Amino acid sequence: MTMERKFWEEEIETMSRPNLEKLQVERLKKTVEIAMGSKFYAPIFKERGITPESIRSVEDIRRFPFTTKNDLRSTYPFGIASVPLQKVVRLHSSSGTTGNPTVILHTKKDIDEWANAMARSMFATGLRDTDIIQNTSGYGMFTGGLGIQYAAERLGALTVPAAAGNSLRQFKFIQDFGTTALHCIPSYATRLATVFREQGVDPRDTTVTRMIIGAEPHSEAQRKRIEEIWGCKAYNNFGMSEMCGPGVAIECEEQNGMHIWEDNYIVEIVDPVTLEPVPEGELGELVLTTLNREAMPLFRYRTRDLTRFLPGDCPCGRTHRRLQRFQGRSDDMMIVRGVNIFPIQIEKILMQFSELASDFLIILETSEDNDNMTVQVELAKATDDFKLLENLKREITHRLKDEILMTPKVQLVGKGVIPQSDGKAVRVKDLRNNH
Ligand code: AMP
Ligand code: ZN
Repeated sequence: MTMERKFWEEEIETMSRPNLEKLQVERLKKTVEIAMGSKFYAPIFKERGITPESIRSVEDIRRFPFTTKNDLRSTYPFGIASVPLQKVVRLHSSSGTTGNPTVILHTKKDIDEWANAMARSMFATGLRDTDIIQNTSGYGMFTGGLGIQYAAERLGALTVPAAAGNSLRQFKFIQDFGTTALHCIPSYATRLATVFREQGVDPRDTTVTRMIIGAEPHSEAQRKRIEEIWGCKAYNNFGMSEMCGPGVAIECEEQNGMHIWEDNYIVEIVDPVTLEPVPEGELGELVLTTLNREAMPLFRYRTRDLTRFLPGDCPCGRTHRRLQRFQGRSDDMMIVRGVNIFPIQIEKILMQFSELASDFLIILETSEDNDNMTVQVELAKATDDFKLLENLKREITHRLKDEILMTPKVQLVGKGVIPQSDGKAVRVKDLRNNH
């Protein structure tokens, strides 16, 4: 009788902390050696006396300066490359709305390690080579397309590269091929469920048992809702183009935070203002150093994502530390009448109302020199019961006020009123005078 395999790479995934740190130091040395070929990093290393031999412990990471998205923009497109372009086989570009996009380069080995990290992540959620995995991400510059594709193939699953959009086609593929797992952004998971219902099929009756959701912030309440409407398990997956793409951190079957693959990254959480490490377990900005990349290693990259380390060991046996579901990005934080608010706080409340669908939009405006917030949210079912709507509105307003300490105006709108984006959901429209 063969024992069922519990890990994709048992030795690495369950490595003791001292051994994991030893591996990190080895890989950091190697990464410095590679990055000496970077026109961007070489002078920094010289100035700070950073050489592979001078790296002795993980603590040495603090000798490096932070790298920011601006550094990527100002060196656009190839200025950070550590290897000759001849060794580079692919580039991806990160989503960004202003200025130069950012470009991330990959060698053959980078692509290979990325596929492996994401395959490892899929395995941790219980996916196996017997699964039929349908990917609803765009196959282009967005890393959720090719990144998931290569990983699902590496896992040995049957892959359905359905790509983004065309929900009726997604519907047909799921039905015809007996898709067992979907990769989607959370906002699409709920939208696709609506299409199923419109076609007279309850998403719970499909063959889909697992979902990998990520690429945008979502609350625990949103995850629960997705699991409920699909009758499946949904696992939070964190990826970022600058680090490779999906495959940086994922929830295992315990669903208690995302294991971040520490053989591939040195992980720091810092105060975004002082840039000093926050006390263990406190909320701060995630800062990552790549340990297993060649074309464009990044040192102490400021992700802008806000999270914290979760305490304790995970019953799954993996030793890589767990990150809490992201609060959002520091650049998503709205300051409204002096109060710091994240869209996810609003989402968390809205998702508690079964009368509401999942699409919402926060509109910020200035009136009489004051900030005003309107929360538009779609109703799950149309109704003209005025009393019911008024009561619902009152209750939502009340609960929102408890959460964000200000009173927004709540507008209940019909399905399809809130504009939908092709990619990640747009949750905030800031029309204030000085924004
Ligand atoms: P991109 O490089 O365009 O894929 O965007 C990466 C960014 O997407 C991250 O820095 C996060 O802000 C966001 N993101 C990715 N995965 C998640 C996730 N699971 N939860 C919350 N935000 C995420
Ligand atoms: Zn675990």
